[in-house]
Amino acid sequence: MALDYTNCNLCGRYCNINRYEKAGYCKTTDRLIISSYLLHFGEEPPISGANGSGTIFFSGCSLGCAFCQNYQISAELEGNSYNIEQLAEMFIKLQNQQAHNINLVTPTHFTPSIKKAFYLVKNKGFFLPIVYNSSGFDSPENLKFIDEIVDIYLPDFKFIDSELSKRYCNAENYPDIAKKNMEIMIKSKGLLKLENDIAKSGVLIRHLVMPNAIENTIEILEYLRVNFGNDIYMSIMSQYAPRYKSKKYNEINRGLKKKEYDIVMNYLIKYDMDNVYVQELMSNEIFFPDFQKDEPFEQN
Ligand code: SF4
Repeated sequence: MALDYTNCNLCGRYCNINRYEKAGYCKTTDRLIISSYLLHFGEEPPISGANGSGTIFFSGCSLGCAFCQNYQISAELEGNSYNIEQLAEMFIKLQNQQAHNINLVTPTHFTPSIKKAFYLVKNKGFFLPIVYNSSGFDSPENLKFIDEIVDIYLPDFKFIDSELSKRYCNAENYPDIAKKNMEIMIKSKGLLKLENDIAKSGVLIRHLVMPNAIENTIEILEYLRVNFGNDIYMSIMSQYAPRYKSKKYNEINRGLKKKEYDIVMNYLIKYDMDNVYVQELMSNEIFFPDFQKDEPFEQN
């Protein structure tokens, strides 16, 4: 199935609009906008490894969470315009810098361009695994379209409670879409496979634990464990801090409490979920990238 930007249904918004003429909910037209591309050392250990993950940050986003930590690029479209040949060159440049993979961050709304770029360099010495690092809100049709070039899926599973996804992302259908997508991804790539501690293929599901939403987290863990088994690979993140529009929502206008996070940790222990990467609960200042800088992850 070939998809393009003519009747855009690349994500769960199903806008069905012509992006050659106007922008969709994701704020982008067919013009590829990229904030930065670099070796990223802050991903999970099997993704970043010692050499770094060759990360490309796409601007715009189809989900648009009120608490987005990357709102400079997702909502404010920080970045520059590139063509498909230039995107293909980024793949090669990052490979030449010894990246372990190409990590496509928020790629959902640009998959037709990404796929073309991949085929420009395939069979021309490009060999890195492709990591598809999305919000989990791709349309299932889009996932099937991009699947042939993806080696590793790194999706978020943010909400299983549709009231929460509606409240914070204006996406009541997020849980249904995310559930379908987890099934497609796991069926296609299976569990994460590592070679010398570096991911080569498979699925690693991320979940950000949010304040006052622990039931949502436990339900997601329960859903994944029951449907896909205890040995599913996950990454549980505790780094939530109020950003962007969070202050409009009293209940998420604070960080996570230890007693909240302990409930999640106890669940993982109870069910022997050993393939879960866990972030320490951060009590001090939290570092956020600044995409207006040349080096967004460099702290002053
Ligand atoms: S990617 Fe999603 S939000 Fe953007 S135009 Fe397509 S369907 Fe709409």
